[in-house]
Amino acid sequence: MTRPIRLEIDLSAIRHNFLFTRQRAQAKRLFAVVKANAYGHGILDTAKALADLADGFALLNIEDAVALREAGIDRPIALLEGPFDAAEAAAMGEYRLCGAVHSLEQMAWLAKGSAARPAEVWLKINSGMNRLGFRPEQAGDALARLRAEPAIRPAAIMTHFATADEAYGVDEQWRDFATLARDSALPVSAANSAALLRHPHTHGDIGRPGIVLYGASPFEDSTGAALGLRPAMTLSADIIAVQQLRNGDAVGYGRRFVADRDMRIGIVACGYADGYPRIAANGTPVAVDGAASGTVGRVSMDMLAVDLSHLPQAGVGSRVELWGPQAPIERVAAAAGTISYELMCAVAARVPRSLRA
Ligand SMILES: *Cc1c(COP(=O)(O)O)cnc(C)c1O
Repeated sequence: MTRPIRLEIDLSAIRHNFLFTRQRAQAKRLFAVVKANAYGHGILDTAKALADLADGFALLNIEDAVALREAGIDRPIALLEGPFDAAEAAAMGEYRLCGAVHSLEQMAWLAKGSAARPAEVWLKINSGMNRLGFRPEQAGDALARLRAEPAIRPAAIMTHFATADEAYGVDEQWRDFATLARDSALPVSAANSAALLRHPHTHGDIGRPGIVLYGASPFEDSTGAALGLRPAMTLSADIIAVQQLRNGDAVGYGRRFVADRDMRIGIVACGYADGYPRIAANGTPVAVDGAASGTVGRVSMDMLAVDLSHLPQAGVGSRVELWGPQAPIERVAAAAGTISYELMCAVAARVPRSLRA
């Protein structure tokens, strides 16, 4: 026996979500974003599930790229932040990786590569996010330098939007970038999940969907299910104890919940050491044997409590879905002041995982 908590990954949902995105995207090619262990879903399982669908994969760590190659994934692989040092720049050729070039330092590393096997680079433009990339006024020079290097082949021009998921939109960033992109005559890559769903004029040649593949909405005001996506990750745990509360009794550390009536609560084998957010407010949604309920009190390291007052049939052994198809991860994230991405990435290694094909 083992502690009754588990993470289930539904690979057919990931495939569904890819095809759903494919149908809506104008982009000619879609590179599935599998960084951060495929947003916590398992990079190898996810990449294998998408191997015959995705036009390529995008990630950060060269170790992950090498692992995909060693697992037989033959599609193009793009390093979203490019090489982190000269050795990685050299390895890009060896493993046939493409990737961003956002700095002069990267250019110098890449230039030392082999002209027989030039590294394919995506010129990264900082169109307003102000994290990585050449400013629009530097782009012409940067591209000229890339084109002059025999060991480098410019293969795309890319940027990343700061507000594709918000009312602010992408117009300001798109305006400068679109001109550069046209002048460069390179394939264009700009759209993340939110832009793929909301801003078709930015789709260009290579879309970069991430969160939608995992079935969550990139938008604050909707859920993946409402958009037509299928949640691919389900975190669930069982009730291991039941408490009868009297009016005035408190629950958990800090007495953060005090009963204002007689109540029945269940203690669930999931806590912040499993990746459930400690900061989640009273009433954060859960589903108990499929019925809606909410958390009560502060989340502990290994346990949390849920209201069973309206669920007399629930008890020890009842399954509590913390997030998944019955408890939208977007709602859980909102109750914890964060986004679904962070919850997906934070599930702890101690939680046993299983796959559904
Ligand atoms: C993470 C990332 C994406 C995917 O973003 P989603 O919002 O998950 O679709 C796309 N492009 C870049 C550069 C990224 O870092």
